[in-house]
Amino acid sequence: MTSQLREPLYGLLLDVDGPIASPVTRTVAIPSIATDLVAMARAGVPIVFNTGRSDDFVAATVMPALLDAGLPDDAPVIAVCEKGATWFTPTRAHLRNAGVDLRVDDALRVPTGLVEYCRSIAPDFDDAMFFDDTKKAMVSLEAHHGIDLDVYRERQHAFDQRVWDYLAEQEIGVVWGEREALNGSEDIAVRIDPTIISTDIEHAGVGKNVGADKAIELLAARGITPREWRTLGDSRSDYAMADRLHERGFVVRHGDVRPADGLLDRTYPVEVTPDPALTNDAAGAAFLTRWRADVKRGEASAAF
Ligand SMILES: [Mg+2]
Repeated sequence: MTSQLREPLYGLLLDVDGPIASPVTRTVAIPSIATDLVAMARAGVPIVFNTGRSDDFVAATVMPALLDAGLPDDAPVIAVCEKGATWFTPTRAHLRNAGVDLRVDDALRVPTGLVEYCRSIAPDFDDAMFFDDTKKAMVSLEAHHGIDLDVYRERQHAFDQRVWDYLAEQEIGVVWGEREALNGSEDIAVRIDPTIISTDIEHAGVGKNVGADKAIELLAARGITPREWRTLGDSRSDYAMADRLHERGFVVRHGDVRPADGLLDRTYPVEVTPDPALTNDAAGAAFLTRWRADVKRGEASAAF
């Protein structure tokens, strides 16, 4: 990596599950996703993955496809994991996990006692979910693949309630959906974040916006300042990436690959693919192909 100041057309800030990795196979299943990403990285476009998953997941899910497509080791690729709490620069050496190259923001970790408590009660819920051993800053319990999601939701609620009660006992402030309790403390320190396939118990300071801050900071340290940003996600919470970039004065457009959930109204452009049949990684692939063409031409496009 040179330290020379560079201004590529785009910086890409990408959610992984959904727009890049298929929610069905949990792999990079569409070949053009990897080839387009690698072509852009080779052209100097920084690619920052911004996921709630662990470094292990990024390594195992994304890296094989990128390496097969010819990703060079000095490519401007960064993985921000666990909603901004950890990050690393993925290379060929990271096909399983980030290992010693992983950086963890200690200020964004949940307390060790909470991790151990969740681990200790996980066996009570192993009919429905499993403890994700790969997380370094947060706790995640994920639904068993193939479980009936209504059954899971009930068990998930019971698990979340146990954690809520534990945090009350420990006098740790917590937010869980609409519920909020200071528990005698001065601030909300922990968030219980249930999704359709998992519960994350995380530091209240993490989020997709933190990943955006990390992306700007880590690229600036390498002398890279993109002229414009493009963000891509399948969830409402992914808009927080573009929100933060916009707040900080960058030009940004957000691609929503699951618009059926309802597009959010923003003052920056929010885009969808022209073909409503394309969702998730199929839509992600369409965005990447378009942006690759823009990079080749050296000019941003305003539409598909
Ligand atoms: Mg996602």
